[in-house]
Amino acid sequence: MAESNGKMYKLEEIIGKPLITSSDKKTRIYGLNVKGREIEISAYLESESRKGYFHKVEVEYLSASMYIINGICTCESFQYYGMPCKHMLTARNVYLKNQNKINKD
Ligand SMILES: [Zn+2]
Repeated sequence: MAESNGKMYKLEEIIGKPLITSSDKKTRIYGLNVKGREIEISAYLESESRKGYFHKVEVEYLSASMYIINGICTCESFQYYGMPCKHMLTARNVYLKNQNKINKD
């Protein structure tokens, strides 16, 4: 898991092509690792307060229960509470909704 340091990223700083981009373009999934019953997702999610800037999110959940077992995010909520934040939930939900459309180019 990457360090969560509060940094925000501009789109041009993000390297690579997303596997999944949400229809509102705010969630971009770049990495996916399926380890048996555990799904690990790396994503960038656009900040709601600072348009054009993205939080870096990593989330790991159990495929059967969808329960989040690990994660890290550069947002203030995660820095402060250390609990799964809305970005982790959104990254997981966007993956669940779009997993059949993974871009394999
Ligand atoms: Zn967050």
